[in-house]
Amino acid sequence: MKKLDIIVKYMDLNRFSLAYVLSIVENYASSRRFVNKIVLARNVIREIERSAADVVVVMYSLMTPQIFDEAFRKEIREIMSVKKTSNIVLVAGGPHASGDPIGTLTKLGFDVAVLREGEVTVPRLLDALMGFDDLDSVPNIVYKDGSRIMKTFDYVSARIVGSAPFSRLFKIYAPIEIMRGCTHACKYCQTPRINMFRIRYRDVEEVYRYCMYYARSGVKIVRFLAPNGFAYGSDGRRPRPEKLERLLRTCKQISDIKLVLGAFPSEVRPDFVTREVMEVVSKYVHNRKIAIGAQSGSNRLLRYIGRGHDVECVYDAVDLCIEYGFQPCVDFIFGLPGETEEDVEKTAKVMIELARRGCIIRGHTFMPLPGTPFENEPPGRVHPRYLEALREIERMRRLEGYWKEQEHIAEKIHRYLKENKCTT
Ligand code: SF4
Repeated sequence: MKKLDIIVKYMDLNRFSLAYVLSIVENYASSRRFVNKIVLARNVIREIERSAADVVVVMYSLMTPQIFDEAFRKEIREIMSVKKTSNIVLVAGGPHASGDPIGTLTKLGFDVAVLREGEVTVPRLLDALMGFDDLDSVPNIVYKDGSRIMKTFDYVSARIVGSAPFSRLFKIYAPIEIMRGCTHACKYCQTPRINMFRIRYRDVEEVYRYCMYYARSGVKIVRFLAPNGFAYGSDGRRPRPEKLERLLRTCKQISDIKLVLGAFPSEVRPDFVTREVMEVVSKYVHNRKIAIGAQSGSNRLLRYIGRGHDVECVYDAVDLCIEYGFQPCVDFIFGLPGETEEDVEKTAKVMIELARRGCIIRGHTFMPLPGTPFENEPPGRVHPRYLEALREIERMRRLEGYWKEQEHIAEKIHRYLKENKCTT
């Protein structure tokens, strides 16, 4: 029988998304005797050299900023040179592979790009690579067939199934994803597009089981992951506090863990910060900060980028958070496409006012991500007026964010997409 080795590339930045990938392949290996080993590797080349399997699948989970990392580029080049002599398949998943699948194959050198959900695609892809199925019957992939690029059919499952948020083998305990996808359509965001504008939730019972497992494994703080942390159980447009309460009340029965919702690594939409939601959240969560996405202080620009809320809604959300004893951290994106001098001035004033009310201001620079309506827009630049406002906010000790680094990354992404982007 042919043997399969699965090598999953370890990168610090996406350690938590790797927990989901590992859980999928660990699950797969439990019912396939031909899986020889699963390796989580910092040094992929060394693991390839050690492997004696007939098929070696090397998996990367990629976010767009990571593709500019020199070590990553060098490693891929080295794998390409080894590949000429052995049976190695290079697979990329994650938001970058979904947003720019053809570039992932033709420019980065991968053999297969996995779009959307790994738990749907990866088991069938591995079966196909072992010869038990045809690649064209595997959903959500773009792959090389000789000199041709092939794309298979799109599929999004009705429920989130088949991926626990942790790796038993490598003991990585990621934030528990309670919601996937988004029905909003902010033009800079990959999330709704990867998920074909659908939202799915994990059942309360399933989340509870994971919380129990975390507690037994010694994890003290359990973070919930969602594109909009307060949207659990909703249609994505209006909160359902009773469903959120059922989730939190159930998980809170486990006395050994503390729950974090609506803070890193998630945030919440301001229109989901209602009194009813805050009544629920304040009873159960451990975090004292709530991360709120405002993105701009200009209603005109908010409309243009498709946020679906206004500035007044941000003020209401912030005031409610403070009333319930939380510190709001409010996100803004600088240099959004279509931003005018007037938008900049309005946003600068809103940020200063929010900081005065006690908010942390988190600054970001717009990055033109592949697969979004803004992918061909120029990279974000931080206007001098923002720098002036940020200095004032810094003096209040209310400033966070990586807008400087993101300004450089945005430039690189723009250049890369302009030179290399192919469309399906
Ligand atoms: S609400 Fe959040 S997740 Fe949804 S599209 Fe906008 S930024 Fe993306």
